[in-house]
Amino acid sequence: MDSDARHRAWVAQAQADADRGVIECRICKRHSQLDETITLWRNGFLVFAVCDRCCGSHDVVIRPTGAGIEVRGVSRGPLVIRGAP
Ligand SMILES: [Zn+2]
Repeated sequence: MDSDARHRAWVAQAQADADRGVIECRICKRHSQLDETITLWRNGFLVFAVCDRCCGSHDVVIRPTGAGIEVRGVSRGPLVIRGAP
């Protein structure tokens, strides 16, 4: 599945989920309530959603470009990798 097809599948599922009051975060894939999620709508369609948990640990930047809406999520903290005990 290419990224366009993946996006279309997510939009279709998100629309159905939103009708039930839940939404799948586009970053962590967890389901959250609509009131715990930042959603982006375009032409009446839900095109992006990110949960409060991800917003708490990431700087999420959403900006319109000529090609579409660009979304960047940058982790605020470093990823710490520990060796085996
Ligand atoms: Zn999330």
